[in-house]
Parts: sequence; C-alpha cells; structure tokens
Amino acid sequence: MTAPKRTARRPATSKPKPKPKPCPDCATGQVSESFQVGGRCKRESSDRPEALCLTCFGTGQTPTE
Ligand SMILES: [Zn+2]
Repeated sequence: MTAPKRTARRPATSKPKPKPKPCPDCATGQVSESFQVGGRCKRESSDRPEALCLTCFGTGQTPTE
C-alpha cells in the first residue's frame, strides 16, 4: 500500500516588495556641495566636493525604517 503523500505546498504569498523610494535630496546618493563664494557674487567654485547625502547615506534611496 502506498499512501498518497501530500506535498504540503505553501501558498505562494505574493508580497510585492516595497519599491525603494528615491532620495528626495539627491539622485545618486551624492550631493555636490556647491557653496557660493562671496554671497552676492554668484561664483561657483571650480572644485565641487562631492559629499555623501546625509539623507540616504549615499544609497540614493529613502531609508526605510
Ligand atoms: Zn540622498
């Protein structure tokens, strides 16, 4: 006698993964701090130090927690 084995199949839970929201402050995870030199004078400094976005910590996505 062979007992029909039931394959306990778990119902596939289709849980859509939450899409990571892009960081509102940056697009690439890095922000180019272009501070103006001279107040009135709009003078863009030649060197732009790219810093990590503090909002997403360089991930480019809104931190989910
Ligand atoms: Zn960011």
